[in-house]
Amino acid sequence: MFRALHAALGRSRKWGRGRKWGRVPKWRMRLYAVAAIAAVAVAPFALNQAYREVLRLDPEWRFVEEVLLRPASGGTEPLVIRWATSPRIALVEATAEDEAFVRALVATLDEVLEGSGLSPRLVEGGKSNFQVYFATRARFDRLAVNLGADPLTSGTGFYLIWRSERLDIVAAVAVVGADSSAAQRQAVIVHQLAHALGLRGDSAVFPDSAVFTQGDRGSTATAFSPIDRKLLRFLYTHLGSANEWSELRAAYRRYWDAS
Ligand SMILES: [Zn+2]
Repeated sequence: MFRALHAALGRSRKWGRGRKWGRVPKWRMRLYAVAAIAAVAVAPFALNQAYREVLRLDPEWRFVEEVLLRPASGGTEPLVIRWATSPRIALVEATAEDEAFVRALVATLDEVLEGSGLSPRLVEGGKSNFQVYFATRARFDRLAVNLGADPLTSGTGFYLIWRSERLDIVAAVAVVGADSSAAQRQAVIVHQLAHALGLRGDSAVFPDSAVFTQGDRGSTATAFSPIDRKLLRFLYTHLGSANEWSELRAAYRRYWDAS
């Protein structure tokens, strides 16, 4: 038995050195082996990426993925983050017109989030966990630095969010350029508010969305569009903080159409 095995091995070695493989240099054989191992290792990832690309052909899913899944500050993994308690919104240096606009917007939000356990409210400054600042663009840099963020030299507004270790949003600031026209200010308020509520990404899929952005073109929406409302309801009814891609996808398949 042992001898037979030995003989077989011997034969295979001889065959190995035979004509067919004899002319392939050893280094090239090694290269093939490395390439084969790399291909096998990369295959699931490449397949996964291809699968995700195909799913993005559904514009609503593409929108949901682009807007909700972003790396949380300090991380690289794209995750959902959201408020776990009701945002209590206060205005800083708003005109009477700004205040009326935000009050109506917050009432709409409260309606959209009915049944989610969250009810956004407009409150006095001291009781707030979410401030909306109106400031001229010349003050943006100093304001950002005062709030502990990097200076921002361009843009019509910006937002900052603070999160807990569990990735719940616990505080937010939205800054709106006070030197813009009334319509522009309203669009910026809706846009930054949407971001600070967890719709963190910009998306070019739906032009009427509050988070629409395409290149330099920002959103002009002065209200949450039907898809924004649907996404806010979905986020606050069916998702949790720190949900990752697979959890978002599973919830989308189960609940999106009914949201
Ligand atoms: Zn944006």
